[in-house]
Amino acid sequence: MDFTLYNKHLKDLMRWFFPETCPLCAQQLGNKDAQNTPYCSQCTASLPYLKHACLRCGQPFSHTAAYSDNTATGYALNQLNSDIDIDIGHEHTASSSVDHCGKCISHPPSFDHCFSPFEYSAPISDEICRLKYAEQPQLATRLAELFVDELLAHDIEQPEALLAVPMHSKRLRERGYNQSLELAKQIAKRLEIPLINDLVRKKTHTRKQTTKTLIQRQSNLKNSFAILKNKHYQHLAIVDDVITTGTTVGEISKILKKNGVDYIQVWSIARTR
Ligand SMILES: [Zn+2]
Ligand SMILES: [Zn+2]
Repeated sequence: MDFTLYNKHLKDLMRWFFPETCPLCAQQLGNKDAQNTPYCSQCTASLPYLKHACLRCGQPFSHTAAYSDNTATGYALNQLNSDIDIDIGHEHTASSSVDHCGKCISHPPSFDHCFSPFEYSAPISDEICRLKYAEQPQLATRLAELFVDELLAHDIEQPEALLAVPMHSKRLRERGYNQSLELAKQIAKRLEIPLINDLVRKKTHTRKQTTKTLIQRQSNLKNSFAILKNKHYQHLAIVDDVITTGTTVGEISKILKKNGVDYIQVWSIARTR
């Protein structure tokens, strides 16, 4: 028996009896909607796709027309429009001829490439907050699904294995799950890439980073990660829900590079401005 076909028929039948609704607007999903993204086509079109960002650190470039357009094809920065201001010295301004921000040209981070398909704004930011703070780890499935669709659409290179930004055991006990690990599990499953869960450990419990300055974040996180096992991977991707300053993934990358990892990508659902 063809189980794939059987599963599809079963899914169609279930959908007929229990119509799926869009998790964002609660409208009933049509057949076409349900097959593509987790949301209805209208909500999918209005997602905050991040089109122009630094290839290295993922920082969005300050180009007013870079967002609010639903064509999710513009992430590749070698396709930057020539009408973007040329100002390499400015931290977050794109140049028509380069695909790295000024900061990465002068002080590159320890990771090599960042892919975040969305800007951290509604409704993606609401979805991430629900995943993180509303005890809804199952949300990782649809966010990972959305992420992988964008990753494949942009033909982003794939690593040997994935790891999630680790959470200190104290925070893990408080929250009950690590949202980055939940995302990494789903992404790894969909891409059929191994997930390594025992490579890096968060050894010190750090206070929430959200209200700190960049310097405070850096000193707060310095030496707070430890390598547990080095399996001699060459190319890894670190998964996080949202990247803000990149300090956490930078610290993890540093320790991975010291331990022989050659090329590190950072994959996150969203990136703040
Ligand atoms: Zn909708
Ligand atoms: Zn950059």
